[in-house]
Amino acid sequence: MTTSTLAKTQWVYAFGGGSAEGDASMKDLLGGKGANLAEMSSLGLPVPPGFTITTAACNHYYANGKAYPTELEAQVQTALAAVEAATGKRFGDPANPLLVSVRSGARASMPGMMDTVLNLGLNDETVEGLARLAGDRRFAFDSYRRFIQMYSNVVLGLDHHMFEEILDDKKDALNVYVDTGLSADDWQAVVADYKAAVQAELGHPFPQDPAQQLWGAIGAVFASWMNDRAKFYRRMHDIPESWGTAVNVQSMVFGNMGDTSATGVAFTRNPSTGENKLYGEFLINAQGEDVVAGIRTPQPITKAAREEMGDKNPSMEEAMPEVFTQFKAVVERLERHYRDMQDIEFTVERGRLYMLQTRNGKRTAKAALKVAVEMAADGLITQDEAVRRVEPASLDQLLHPTIAPDAERDVVATGLPASPGAATGKIVFSAEEAERLGAAGEDVILVREETSPEDIRGMDAARGIVTARGGMTSHAAVVARGMGRPCVSGAGDLQIDEKAGEMRARGRTLKAGDIITIDGSKGDVLSGAVKMVEPELSGDFATLMAWADAARRLKVRANAETATDARTARQFGAEGIGLCRTEHMFFDDARIAAVREMILADDEAGRRAALAKILPMQKGDFVSLFEIMEGLPVTIRLLDPPLHEFLPHTEEDLTAVAEATGLDAAKLLRRAKELRETNPMLGHRGCRLGVSYPEIYEMQVRAIIEAALDVAASGRPAPTPEIMHPLVAKGEEMNYLKALTDRTVKQVCEERGATIEYSVGAMVELPRAALRAADLAKSAEFFSFGTNDLTQTTFGISRDDSGRFLNAYIDKGIFEKDPFVSLDTEGVGDLIRIATERGRAVRPDIKLGICGEHGGDPASIAFCEDVGLDYVSCSPYRVPIARLAAAQAALNRKG
Ligand code: PEP
Ligand code: MG
Repeated sequence: MTTSTLAKTQWVYAFGGGSAEGDASMKDLLGGKGANLAEMSSLGLPVPPGFTITTAACNHYYANGKAYPTELEAQVQTALAAVEAATGKRFGDPANPLLVSVRSGARASMPGMMDTVLNLGLNDETVEGLARLAGDRRFAFDSYRRFIQMYSNVVLGLDHHMFEEILDDKKDALNVYVDTGLSADDWQAVVADYKAAVQAELGHPFPQDPAQQLWGAIGAVFASWMNDRAKFYRRMHDIPESWGTAVNVQSMVFGNMGDTSATGVAFTRNPSTGENKLYGEFLINAQGEDVVAGIRTPQPITKAAREEMGDKNPSMEEAMPEVFTQFKAVVERLERHYRDMQDIEFTVERGRLYMLQTRNGKRTAKAALKVAVEMAADGLITQDEAVRRVEPASLDQLLHPTIAPDAERDVVATGLPASPGAATGKIVFSAEEAERLGAAGEDVILVREETSPEDIRGMDAARGIVTARGGMTSHAAVVARGMGRPCVSGAGDLQIDEKAGEMRARGRTLKAGDIITIDGSKGDVLSGAVKMVEPELSGDFATLMAWADAARRLKVRANAETATDARTARQFGAEGIGLCRTEHMFFDDARIAAVREMILADDEAGRRAALAKILPMQKGDFVSLFEIMEGLPVTIRLLDPPLHEFLPHTEEDLTAVAEATGLDAAKLLRRAKELRETNPMLGHRGCRLGVSYPEIYEMQVRAIIEAALDVAASGRPAPTPEIMHPLVAKGEEMNYLKALTDRTVKQVCEERGATIEYSVGAMVELPRAALRAADLAKSAEFFSFGTNDLTQTTFGISRDDSGRFLNAYIDKGIFEKDPFVSLDTEGVGDLIRIATERGRAVRPDIKLGICGEHGGDPASIAFCEDVGLDYVSCSPYRVPIARLAAAQAALNRKG
């Protein structure tokens, strides 16, 4: 093949003057801004002409030691010549200079993260040309000093404070307070000072050659793709580094050419409420950065908004009625064209409107719902599209009281956003204190090093929970999400001194009883009481959820063990319980004594006697769950944690427990020591307890079946219990447990002379269980993937301690996300696929679900849809998120 037959890569795409080489579908190559500028040009909208250097050029630049593609320079020259022709101006021409803006523009918008240079092309000669053309010397020199400052900062790496100081000194010397007080000559003097400062700092003059300026700016925009801000933003929003940024070079239009000029931003609807009203702000006689910099307060665009705000200055509608009418028509057209709410930037230069940007506007969850529902109602989009338009995770904002967006935040410490919502209360350092004050009607925030199952009642009594240690699946995080309590976990900069009743963070000391607010959606601990807003679940929310339910295939259940959790779950639309962790029921004051008695018993007879005391209480719990769930499936997991978790931990606690219960202190201590394990999570736990102490599981099965029979006999819908065995690894183990379960059920049914539908299944939490799923499926009628443990056992990484080192893995790009939060669809996912296939091969109708924390994570739910699980189960407050994510996953599969 000869080179002449090779198609030349097009690195540059022109737009403007009613046509464009690109269009809105080319976001990957042209970036969002470039693609939409091209689209607006093709629609015949007034877009200043320009061109886009592609993201492919950026990637080439990084792949080749920061060298541009060889053809780029010539292609830029050609495109620049076309802009000159369209504008009738020439780049660098002192008589008639073309000035350009150089802006970044990635595939996804990354507001403020990358660099921009305006007024490029100005130098000591062209500034005079601009002054003549504009008939305004002051404007020309003001533009020049802006350019020197911006370029020096963005391209030459000089601190902008240096320029601000020079300007402040100038104003002081002249005795003026605002920029508008400076004359043309004053600005000219400022320019001279700026240039001298650049020379002094860098040892060479400010570049006068416009071509050199242009290439400097292009390089700076590419470089800004790798700045720390941009990297951090990408990580937060899952934007891959490989996307690269485009560079948009566009002829300048000026909003600062007097009172018939202006610049502004607008949303076609209110981005905070979703209300269908044009919403925006503008500034007369200003450039874009003035709006952002907050030096002058922008005015509302519409008259109605101005009146509502009681603003005296005229709105755009009043100050520039003709341009406003044209603008309104343009933005309405844009919204219809893109079929979504648009976020628009514009400039008016001497009475002429120019469109500088349009993109789908970012919005709150509330606004997203309203916009989607109203657009579907108006026929602009379909119901399925409306369902796709709302980010499932954003629903969190609606399901809990949250901190008001305009509230002041005095951050004391930060940790992980473990459970969303916000809460205010007095600091308490122990679960007992939380219970005591909670019972007295006080709002408290429980602050602990980390929590353990015995803190459960204190956690329940608290409004919110903070821990200094622990990750997103730590005890505190899981339990708090289940309870719908806001929680910040792993706030590493907190030093808690429980004895002294105080905590230190960032040089401050807070005491028990001090008021704090926690923002579990962000992971912040704030000082004092902070203003909140309440959730709203009817209206648009209900409408969209109904549409989502119509679109989804996966069922959604909840992880719940208390009546409160179960009710919340149903209120949020759960279709059953996917995981009832029975051990949580063992920690109640009335029961823990019997549980400890059972653990201390010397023999089976002793254990059975203690278990007989627990039985009626367990049964009572199940009755209430079955009643609330009204015949929906309820998966009950038999006892899972190692027994030592139920014993007191310190000698002090031990003595207190011995005194309170009349149990022998020495024996209690000995037993606690005996039960201590080096690796409790890999130790005597899960169904291993059922194998060594079958009487424990027999009691639990009996409690479940007696409860189910009682509820059915009371005339309520017959419950459908699913009895689940945790941490199963072998077929033989499952066979044993299945036989134990069936035998006990049979016995209870015979005693009662009644029957009940039930099923027996395995929790798949170990790689071996997944690999040998065919063995398990011989006796297991369902599998539920316990992906918390399955992730832990697949990686060999502790779910409780991983927070301490996972960040390093994420920083280094080894993990994209925390695998305890978002399913590792490769490794853990492979095991799930294998278990699904092998299980189904033996038992085609085997029921398959997931009940680890991933059951509420949208990306993990999409995976569950792909492998064809029957349901996902998550904490009650995530049920709506899971319903919407399941609907989107189903729609995406359809394509
Ligand atoms: C799991 O391991 O995924 C699970 C749901 O069980 P637990 O979190 O109680 O260990
Ligand atoms: Mg588990």
